[in-house]
Amino acid sequence: MNFLPLIESKREGKILAPEQIQEFIREFTAGKIPDYQMSAMLMAIYFRGLNTAETTTLTLAMRDSGDVLKFPKDKRPRVDKHSTGGIGDKVSLPLAPLLACLGFRVPMISGRGLGITGGTLDKLDSIPGFKTLLPAENIIAQVQKVGCVICGQTDKMVPADKKIYALRDASGTVPSIPLITASILSKKLAESLDALILDVKFGSAAFMQTKADARRLAKAMVALGNDCGTNTSAILTDMNSPLGRAAGNWLEVKESVDCLENKGPTDLRELTIACAAHLLLHTRKTKSIVAARKLAEACMRSGEARQKWEAMLVAQGADLKAFNRKLALDSTAKTVLELKAEKSGFVSKCDARIIGEVVRNLGGGRLTKNSTINYDVGVDNIAKPGERLGKSGVLCRVHAADVNQAKAAIARLKTAFEISAKPQKNTPLISEIITGKSDRIFNQPA
Ligand code: URA
Repeated sequence: MNFLPLIESKREGKILAPEQIQEFIREFTAGKIPDYQMSAMLMAIYFRGLNTAETTTLTLAMRDSGDVLKFPKDKRPRVDKHSTGGIGDKVSLPLAPLLACLGFRVPMISGRGLGITGGTLDKLDSIPGFKTLLPAENIIAQVQKVGCVICGQTDKMVPADKKIYALRDASGTVPSIPLITASILSKKLAESLDALILDVKFGSAAFMQTKADARRLAKAMVALGNDCGTNTSAILTDMNSPLGRAAGNWLEVKESVDCLENKGPTDLRELTIACAAHLLLHTRKTKSIVAARKLAEACMRSGEARQKWEAMLVAQGADLKAFNRKLALDSTAKTVLELKAEKSGFVSKCDARIIGEVVRNLGGGRLTKNSTINYDVGVDNIAKPGERLGKSGVLCRVHAADVNQAKAAIARLKTAFEISAKPQKNTPLISEIITGKSDRIFNQPA
């Protein structure tokens, strides 16, 4: 293929034909287009953009660059959630078993941490014996039997995205709405979903810092998801402060189990229930969002989702005894230190970006592609905006590999919190809901 004229066309702002996009994705995946030319194309797309038709073609070409999961006929709709990433965002963990209990099939293909944001697979890797890499046939078999799986993408799924993402990371072309849309949706569409809920974050620790940018991305993804036959909606959620009270891989697993046991923080529970409710509504399992919330809440309260979580763990090789022993510990890290408030008042700021950076620097995330992760470190007991604290009240606890690292983390964390004399108005967790068309037909076999 002569790729140069296509790069030049896009550089000049011209529209690429569907066959041209399909061909260059095929050729690039097969290793027939050099990285430097593909990087030039990505930069041209970054500056010139792609229109809706081009973005749809790119997404489908990327999806079809590898295996698409094929499920047997079944009445249970296939659903999933995707979050653009945040600090303490562990919603996938309680959500997958909850959805399975609500009568869905959940092929939740997840990712690892990106930048300072945590990754679902890294969290699950902290569970003794749990396997996150499964072949496609095991993914399908587990979804059919247990109702849910949370695992990584197989080598054969969406290889085009893997190669393109690596180039975007190294060529400054990650923050492009058509490229993000194609990257996220090509992977979700490869799960053969009936419905998808997108949690698009905005705020200090989010990929999209402003609500306006988050809205633009959400609208693009909702439109494209629906055009490709998956009923897609999005919620815009605040990521100026962390979700829940814990950030760090194992600490987040613990908090997810609390949520499944109806004990966890209210914002985590609220977002988990909201995601489930939107999927219930969009697959027409309930007639209203109010009824959907009630159904999801009752299911969570019943303890069924907690049992399903255990069934999922067993199916993916976890050592339940070791898991429960670990759960009973207050901390698995070598050192735990508290950060205390220097004055009494109301928490007016709890900066998710600083907390994310601290967790990553403690070893809970990656500083380079090949960094090894310390699953035990992190920050918990985080005081949330609006909460009242007395002098010396705990703002958070640090779990670290040694005292020096814990002290350095505490020094940095002091800058994450602010305390004011009067309570400030809290921003709502979910600030907008973006829906697409609602006239889809569900339960179609793949
Ligand atoms: N997550 C993805 O999978 N792709 C992007 O481009 C951005 C976030």
